[in-house]
Formats: sequence, C-alpha cells, structure tokens
Amino acid sequence: MNPALATRPIDWQIDQIWVMYALLIPTAFLFLWGIWRHLRLWRLGRPDARWDRPGERLKRLGTYALGQARILQRRAFGLAHAALFWTMVLLFGGTLVALAHHDLGIPIMQGWFYLIYQSLILDVAGLLTVVALAGFFVRRWLVAPTGARLADRPAGWSLPDWVLPLLLLISCLQGFGLEALRIVGTNDPWAAWSPGGSVLAGALGALPLATIVVVFQVLWWTHYLTTNVIWVCIPYSNIFHLVTAPLNIYCANLDAPANELPALDLETAERFGASRVQDFTWKHLLDLDACTACGRCDDVCPATATGKELHPRSIILNLRDYLTLDAEPLRPLLGGAISEQALWECTTCRACMQACPVLIEHVPKIVEMRQSLVMEESRFPPELAAIFRNLEVTANPWHFPNETRGDWAEGLEIPVFAERVPDDVEYLFWVGCYGSFDNRSKKVTVALARVLQRAGVRFGILGPREKCNGDPARRAGNEYLYQMLARENVDTLNGADVRKIVTACPHCFNNLKNEYPQLGGTFEVVHHTEVIAQLVAGGRLRLDRSIDKTVTYHDPCYLGRYNGVYDPPRYVLERIPGLALIEMAKSRERSFCCGAGGARGFMEEPAGKRVNEARVAQAETTGAGTLAVACPFCMNMFQDGIQGRGAGDRLAGEDVAELAELASRPRN
Ligand code: SF4
Ligand code: SF4
Repeated sequence: MNPALATRPIDWQIDQIWVMYALLIPTAFLFLWGIWRHLRLWRLGRPDARWDRPGERLKRLGTYALGQARILQRRAFGLAHAALFWTMVLLFGGTLVALAHHDLGIPIMQGWFYLIYQSLILDVAGLLTVVALAGFFVRRWLVAPTGARLADRPAGWSLPDWVLPLLLLISCLQGFGLEALRIVGTNDPWAAWSPGGSVLAGALGALPLATIVVVFQVLWWTHYLTTNVIWVCIPYSNIFHLVTAPLNIYCANLDAPANELPALDLETAERFGASRVQDFTWKHLLDLDACTACGRCDDVCPATATGKELHPRSIILNLRDYLTLDAEPLRPLLGGAISEQALWECTTCRACMQACPVLIEHVPKIVEMRQSLVMEESRFPPELAAIFRNLEVTANPWHFPNETRGDWAEGLEIPVFAERVPDDVEYLFWVGCYGSFDNRSKKVTVALARVLQRAGVRFGILGPREKCNGDPARRAGNEYLYQMLARENVDTLNGADVRKIVTACPHCFNNLKNEYPQLGGTFEVVHHTEVIAQLVAGGRLRLDRSIDKTVTYHDPCYLGRYNGVYDPPRYVLERIPGLALIEMAKSRERSFCCGAGGARGFMEEPAGKRVNEARVAQAETTGAGTLAVACPFCMNMFQDGIQGRGAGDRLAGEDVAELAELASRPRN
C-alpha cells in the first residue's frame, strides 16, 4: 500500500446528491437571515472606527480567540472550552477540505495529508469534541454555577441554547457511525488512521453488506439534516458567540490597557452620554451580542463581591435584552433596564474588562450612562453636587483656596514655576489634589520631594497654577466640568513648555498621560514609582538603610490595569534592605479595587460591605504589618478601612515613596 495514494470516496453509496444542494438553500437563507437580524441591531449604534491596524487586530485574534488566552486562565473549564473550540475549528476545516476536493475538483484529500489530517486528526478531534460536550452538559446540568455571582440573573439559556450542543453531540456520534460503516463497507485499507471509527467498525463487522449500505444511507441523510439544523440554530442561540466573540476581539480597543474614555464634542453633540441603545456606538452593541454570560466579570467585581446591586454581567445582559426585545417603548433604559444605583456603585476599576474572555468594554458604557444622567437630567448622588461645585469654583474637591495648593512645599526649597519651566528642569512634579491638601497624603508628597532631592533630580511645581486634573468629574459623567478643568491645565502646561511630568497620583497620571492628548496636551508622564525605580537602577538613589518590615503591596487600578505599571513599585520595595515583600492572592492584573475610583471615593457607600475593608482584610491575611500603596486615593481608603476593621495595631498604610525615603540617606 502506497500512502501517497491514500484517499476515500466522499459520496460512497449516496445518490441524488442534488437533494443535498437543494436543502442548502433554505439552510443558507435561515442562517443569513439570523445574521442579518444581529447586523440590523448593531447598525443602530453610532459610528466607531475599529478596523484600523489590521496586523495588531489579527494578533489579538490569535491570542484571545484562537489562543483562548483568557478562557484558559480557568484550568478545568478553560481546557474543555478550548478543546471544544479548537476541535470545532478542525472539524469545520475538514468539511471545507471535503467540499474543495469533491465539489471544486481540487484534489487535496489524498496521500499523507488525507491520512494525517482528514483521518487521524479529525478522528481524534471528534473524540475530544464528544468528551468536551459531555463535560459541558455535566457542568450546565449537574453542577450548574450557583451562588452570588449568578444569583441576580440566572444564565437564562433559551431552548436553542440547549438544543445546539445536544445536536453537536449527536452529529459527532453520527460521524463516528458513518466512518465505521464506511470502513466496513469499503474494507478500507487505511482504517487504522481513524482509531475511533476503527474500534466501532470492529463491532459492526458481522453485519451483511446490504444492511451496512442501508444503515449508512439513512444515517448519512440524518447526519446531513442534523448539521443543517445546527447551522440554522447558530444565529438564533447563545452559540452565536462563535461568530460574535472573534469579531468582538478583532474590533476591541487597541489602546487598552490605557483605555481612555472617548472625548465628547461638547460644541456639536446633540445628546450627552447614553440613555438609549442608539446612543452607544455599534461596537458597544456588538459587545452585548458577544457576551457569553459566563459571569467572570461578576467574579472579580469589587461591588458584586461586597454585596452591592451592581453586577457587570447583568449590565451587559440587561442592555442586550433591551436591544433585542425592543423594550424601549415600554420602559426607559436608565432606571428601567439599568438600575441607577448599580451605575453609581461602579469604581471603574476595570477588573471586569480584564477578566472578560471576549474583551467586552463595560466601563465606557457605564460612564456614558452616567454622562446622560448627569448632563442631560442632572440626576446624581447628592454628595457629588458639592464635589462638582467645589471643582468648578476652587479647582479641588474640598473647597480649599487653590492659592494654598503649594503650601506643603514651604521650607523645602522647591521651585514654583510662575512662567515657563527652565530647560535644565528634569520633571515638573504634578502634585494633585490629595497630595496638596489632604494631611496624610501631604506627608507622601514631602517624602517624594525629599527622595527626588536626595537623588539630585531637578524638579519644581506649578503651585496655585495647578488644578484638579478632572478625573473624578469625568468618571462621574460630568464631561463638561472635566473638559473645563483639563483645558485650563493643558493651556497652563503648554504655556509653561512642560515636557516631562512626574506624579504620585495614578488618576492624575492616567489622565495627563492618556486623556490630555485628546485636548491638545501631549507630555511624557511618569508615575513616581517608575521614577524612583529608575533612580535606584541608575545609582542616583541608594537604598541602604535597612527597614525591618513585612510589606504587602496593593496595585492601584489606574496604575496597574489601566497602565500596566506593576514592576517598578515592586522593584523599589525589593531593593530595600531588610524589607520582606509578600504578595496578596489578588495582585497585579487581579488586584482588588480600594473602592475610590470612578469618583466613588467622594460618595457614600450605604449598600453591602465596604470595599476598602474587604481589601484591608485581604492584606491582613498575608500577615504583613505594612500595606504599601502608590496612590493617594488608595491611601485614604485604606486609612478608613484599617480603622473600620480595628486593625490599626497590626497594619499600617505607607506609600512606596515614604519607604524609599526611610531607606535612603540625605545628601551631604
Ligand atoms: S469597573 Fe470594577 S466596579 Fe465597575 S463593574 Fe467593572 S469590576 Fe465592577
Ligand atoms: S461580559 Fe464578558 S465576562 Fe461578563 S459574562 Fe459576558 S462574556 Fe462573561
């Protein structure tokens, strides 16, 4: 037997093949009609350019769709899902090869390719599909996910959602039956390359040929009808995520993790924010369709974990219901399908987006709905009224006179730039509101200034010319106030010819670095932990005083998940002699929010447990005596959290800059 001649007849014992082609017409019509129904809904959204940089997009597709990167973060289920996905791709590929060979006359189903791919690989893929589908049914039926994360909204699968996996299972079993019957009927010399089919063929070997042929023909047509029904079901069931998930991943925001909010054109916009589905972009509507209801976003949401009304999965699924059930005439979106309380409970921590396997963008949707509440209807939590007023009048959230913004620097010999920043200055130190006015944070500001001075860094501040960067206003939906503050800051910074900025606040850092370019302010912005790490690495700052402490480090959301800065603070801490660094279970990308982002730090937290106390409890479980932070918002929340838990005798919050100051010596 020459393997180069190996092949098999595709239409063995099948006559009237025209019936097969005729049946394709209604199948294709129903399938395409189903797709059109989805497309029609996505087209309701506003335009958004998500087709640029195809190379980068294909790379993402490879990582998250083909590579199943986030799915595989959960070992058992992830492997089963990935196996199902990959085997389906292989089996679909096998169908295309057979079509090309038989219908297009391209002779590829032969030789080694036939033996290895079309026989061995597809046989094993079929077996794996059966095992994965069996695992799927066990998980959904016998050990269906329960508990808090799905409690507010059960998975809610419709009949086609259940029928389709069942049909897939039946189709695979039919495939093995057909393979076995053909092996026996044709006395296939290459049967050993199809191990699953060969085993089954061994059990059928005693049947007369006439019986084999009849059973084969009946089973072939049944199999064909089954696969047609599967195709028809796809766009009408949850399995449509086979299409929407890769599409959504391809169209994802390429600028993540920075993931800036889009700038609103306040001059020309007819509506602010989103209060109807058509106020979202088409990509946001595609997001809704791509959700698999897996609940991973709920699993990591600090609001959900502390018993709040907010469940990010429900935000997405309720929006989808609203979109697909055409519920708009029946009830308003905000306060109807989407609870206002849930919208205000979001800390914009982005943990949901980090966890979502299909790269759904929850936070921009939540902020856009907040924008509508604030800017269209003036509906927001009462605490925010004072914050908005203070930001507008005094350019800080607490109504301190802005002239006192630089008072912390008295006696420290720090230049205050009244005009242009001199050329020999390395960094403008952007202090931020907490660092300028809050008593605890002012200590961090002074510590950082001393560290920079010890390393011989030439820097200065703007003093009263600095204003709040606008982040709390923007995340709370007050884009008008944000742009007012941000434009004033951009004018000041451009007027002073500022190029490099260092700041100790991740919210200032994120805004200045990623969002000010939208308003004409492009600067090189670094976080203070990055600068300290560079100074240590470059030998300009020596950390040679021992600190006998066990420390656990909390990753601020706007530094870590938003900007990918995880290593510099750890680098600094690890270089302090005597200091032992222990990681919390939820660290780096999986860090748990302090509770202050998205202007939450300025709002009451009446529902559920307190997020800051939950995070302090996580820090306590490490046994560390110091909770190191790199954000004044986190510091403030943890001060309260430590007090709230009565943990002041066993845990203290300290900024990385304070520890670096302790570990370094003043210059002579
Ligand atoms: S951003 Fe954070 S708080 Fe908001 S929904 Fe996502 S996980 Fe929850
Ligand atoms: S939004 Fe993403 S993580 Fe959340 S349920 Fe849907 S697919 Fe899963």
